Amino acid sequence: MKQRSYIGLGSNLGDSLQILSDAVYKLTSLGDVRVSKLYHSAPMGPQDQPHFHNAVVELYTTLEPLQLLDQLQAFEQQAGRVRLRHWGERTLDLDLLLYADQEIEHERLKVPHAGIMLRDFVLIPLLDLAPDLTLKGQLLRDLPVVRNSELNVLADCPWIQEPTV
Ligand code: ATP
Ligand code: CA
Ligand code: CA
Repeated sequence: MKQRSYIGLGSNLGDSLQILSDAVYKLTSLGDVRVSKLYHSAPMGPQDQPHFHNAVVELYTTLEPLQLLDQLQAFEQQAGRVRLRHWGERTLDLDLLLYADQEIEHERLKVPHAGIMLRDFVLIPLLDLAPDLTLKGQLLRDLPVVRNSELNVLADCPWIQEPTV
């Protein structure tokens, strides 16, 4: 049975617009997708790195959560991701934010994603796709981190470039 999932995309190395576009094309191979606007955000963690391009994709897929994580990690590797430092620069980061209404505590996978309630660059694109979403009884659009956010939109939809892959 198809389940609705949300995936957070981030990139701050290389041609980030092209890398995220290619990632969206790859995600379409896993099921039906909808794509948020494209945003520009200051880095978390080390500040001596470029700003990020961020977006969220809604994916309806028959993959189980760990199978989906395997695919996301394969796509990160195909984008040439190298681990340099914690919360550091990367060509592509794909985080599984939500999977149906499941709560998962696995050594490789925590769902909902641990940072989801804290990060405007995740919540605001997520709200593009699901404006009335609640989590733990909380309407996400009413969170202070959302209401006080100054996140910049880089591009309204459609921002996807033709794939290079
Ligand atoms: P953060 O998770 O705080 O956003 P990050 O994206 O930089 O940080 P990574 O280095 O990309 O972290 O991932 C570290 C590990 O997190 C992965 O190897 C993966 O097994 C694990 N992980 C746990 N939960 C999730 C999830 N919901 N989505 C993606 N990876 C997850
Ligand atoms: Ca992340
Ligand atoms: Ca990650």
